[in-house]
Amino acid sequence: MSQLQTLRGMVDLLPEQTRRWQAVESVAREHFRCAGLDEIRTPLLEFTDLFARGIGEATDVVGKEMYTFLDRGDRSCTLRPEGTASVVRAALQHGLLTQGTQRLWYGGPMFRYERPQAGRQRQFHQIGVEFLGASSPRSDAEVIALAWDLLSALGIQGLKLEINSLGTPEDRQRFRSELVGWLEERVEQLDPDSQERLTTNPLRILDSKDKGTQRLLNEAPTLLGALSEESAHRFDEVRALLTALQIPYQLNPRLVRGLDYYGHTAFEITSDQLGAQATVCGGGRYDGLIQQLGGPATSAIGWALGMERLLLVIDAAAQADPEGPAARLTATPAPLVYLINRGAQAEPKALTLARKLRGAGLAVELDGSSAAFGKQFKRADRSGAPWAVVLGDEEALAGQLRLKPLRGEGEEQQLTWEDALSYLTKQR
Ligand code: ATP
Ligand code: MG
Repeated sequence: MSQLQTLRGMVDLLPEQTRRWQAVESVAREHFRCAGLDEIRTPLLEFTDLFARGIGEATDVVGKEMYTFLDRGDRSCTLRPEGTASVVRAALQHGLLTQGTQRLWYGGPMFRYERPQAGRQRQFHQIGVEFLGASSPRSDAEVIALAWDLLSALGIQGLKLEINSLGTPEDRQRFRSELVGWLEERVEQLDPDSQERLTTNPLRILDSKDKGTQRLLNEAPTLLGALSEESAHRFDEVRALLTALQIPYQLNPRLVRGLDYYGHTAFEITSDQLGAQATVCGGGRYDGLIQQLGGPATSAIGWALGMERLLLVIDAAAQADPEGPAARLTATPAPLVYLINRGAQAEPKALTLARKLRGAGLAVELDGSSAAFGKQFKRADRSGAPWAVVLGDEEALAGQLRLKPLRGEGEEQQLTWEDALSYLTKQR
């Protein structure tokens, strides 16, 4: 029989990786707690219509990348390709918007049927932030700072923040006709994908990875040039705030996001460690989305970062600086105690002892091998635990144990279980 395997683009996280993910997640959770954000969890499966209406039919995500199927009741369902539409749906469904500005974060798997490569999977994971009901330029700066500071807290350096303004729908409409007019005169210089986008989603051409198209676009009219005075002023304010916060940024007039709902501020944070999949975090303002999904006109802004790419960058940072914060995140935590045990009396009691110590919050690795003491000691050393507890038949019968420091100086002591417990609790 052939070996069963994951589907293409679906990736297992093995224990060692999961540990690192948890370390990153706990830094993120703490970061959001300090910033007064609340977590929201939405289902992985939604009506297809949510994404078709929210993200836009002409986007790559909806057009080509969704996992869509009919359920047993013939309803068209889609595994969520991103988080924002679901968060907005949940906020509307449960009336959260009547309770003031919602400062939310989420995390979890997303699904896109893409060609898998480094930093690109079919099931991948995002952590994201959404501020619903936040309209001021100050909220743009705060949301961007939240992403920037989280990445700094994780010890990642050499990141680049690029920002652009996509203006209002009217600004974009004006720019779209200008751009389409300009490109139509040069259509033969465009790559085939971009030629197709000229009619379906011309702004996405700005995002083309094709070298020839990119060269051509250097000469093309820019969105920034098409902004109304009001939009330009708003963008100036955001930039001034970022400067005041000492968050370095670069203006990228060609930055457009892949989802249709963005307007005004759009941004991406990229790393030079990731090759073609350079974007770690992307986000922007989406003032039209909530209304588009049937809610009241409500301003909102958010971002999402890709966990897989983040972990790749953290690995690179850990290698570059083995003492730095990224390296600490990737370190494997050792148990406090390695419990060595052998003998007919000792072995059943060892399990009782392990439960007792664990019940007091101590991390205990229980050796289950019944191997010779010498072998168990070797494993104890390898485990990295600072303490070995040794339980042989003699100790077991006497209701005692031996406690031996595995690192540094210190004498072995023979103690009752109670005394060992209170001693170890202080060593934690
Ligand atoms: P890209 O241009 O790389 O396809 P995107 O614009 O489609 O990215 P967003 O929808 O903005 O990405 O998602 C935010 C982040 O989620 C991305 O910056 C990236 O880090 C991550 N991401 C998106 N798609 C994938 C994927 N298929 N595999 C892994 N991570 C992904
Ligand atoms: Mg994409």
